[in-house]
Amino acid sequence: MSHLMSNYLPLDVTFTSGKGCWLTDNKDQQYLDCLSGVGVVNLGHCHPTITKAIAEQASTLLHTSNWYHIENQEILAERLCSAANMDKVFFGNSGAEANEAAIKIARLHGKSKGIENPIILTAKQSFHGRTMATLSATGNSKVQAGFAPLVSEFIHVDFNDIDAIKAFDENINVAAVMLEPIQGESGVIIPADDYLNVVQSICNNNDWLLILDEVQTGIGRTGKLFAHQYNNITPDVMTLAKGLGNGVPIGACLTKGVASELLVPGTHGSTFGGNPLVTKVALCILDVFDNDNILENVNSQSTYIHSQLSVALKDHSAVKEIRIKGLMIAIELNVDCSTLLQKALDDQILINIIGNTIRMLPPLIINKEEVDIMLEKIIKLINNAST
Ligand code: PLP
Repeated sequence: MSHLMSNYLPLDVTFTSGKGCWLTDNKDQQYLDCLSGVGVVNLGHCHPTITKAIAEQASTLLHTSNWYHIENQEILAERLCSAANMDKVFFGNSGAEANEAAIKIARLHGKSKGIENPIILTAKQSFHGRTMATLSATGNSKVQAGFAPLVSEFIHVDFNDIDAIKAFDENINVAAVMLEPIQGESGVIIPADDYLNVVQSICNNNDWLLILDEVQTGIGRTGKLFAHQYNNITPDVMTLAKGLGNGVPIGACLTKGVASELLVPGTHGSTFGGNPLVTKVALCILDVFDNDNILENVNSQSTYIHSQLSVALKDHSAVKEIRIKGLMIAIELNVDCSTLLQKALDDQILINIIGNTIRMLPPLIINKEEVDIMLEKIIKLINNAST
């Protein structure tokens, strides 16, 4: 009997090592990892530069406390702010914690304007985490089921619908709008090109904070370091996690302007957040992005994948839609997908299935040879699904 709680339902496979885009199981079988630990191991498994940085930092200093200055944390904050054109950073250990910080900042913003119960607008079908506040922010009743009473004053509006947000224009109780630039967990839902621009101008007109959850889209996943850079905007708050650590636990909440002044001593904290080890790793990841042209690879592989899928799946009876931005890839089918996860595993490729959608988040270092293997296996899977 397992002594682990039953909140996960793992597939019947145990990985014992990984290298680049490949994982090896305890029977010595190799799998192509097209999920990257759900968008985490973006520079691949056991990247030698990161492994070296971990070993060096582990033999120097792992942890002090945020009661003392942490040099790596200060350098990382400066690098992230300069890359994102933002001002300040709080470090936690996960995406949910980064979003908790963002939600607390939104509440403080509301209070500073005299709002007693500040409202945060979030999107239907969004995902922001599993803590009480972030699951309340999440626009998915399955994630919330059983956990009432939820944290109040989140109102869920249709994603990619400007009128749904405009309906709150001049509502004096709204403090912030919180969105994913592309909804990841609901199956790579990509809004209109100018959606975030229009939302930002509504936020500006109303003195609402624009909070962008880039936990999944951030750190290169979409082909820019941050997805909102496609819109040439700067949010008031942005959250990061996943790819920022490549497997070590780190989350970050970045702020700009007024949002930077709201957390004061004693209002927020984390024991482990931003410790010397994880911040060293994140710094090393940013170096790899600079030195190894990671974004160029994301964009060229993305274009190639898109063209190959479009040709191979054109007029395919089982395919409803292909959605791709950088290396966030979804293929929505119009046939039952319930057996596809196991079929993919049997074929030694790791993917994710959300309802009728196949989602892939391969490592950003994937090369053309590996992309070809991925495409061959996925097209085979889709052909099998429709028979
Ligand atoms: N926000 C987004 C957009 C996510 O995709 C996720 C995780 O999938 C989270 C937040 C939660 O992150 P974590 O699981 O690190 O708490």
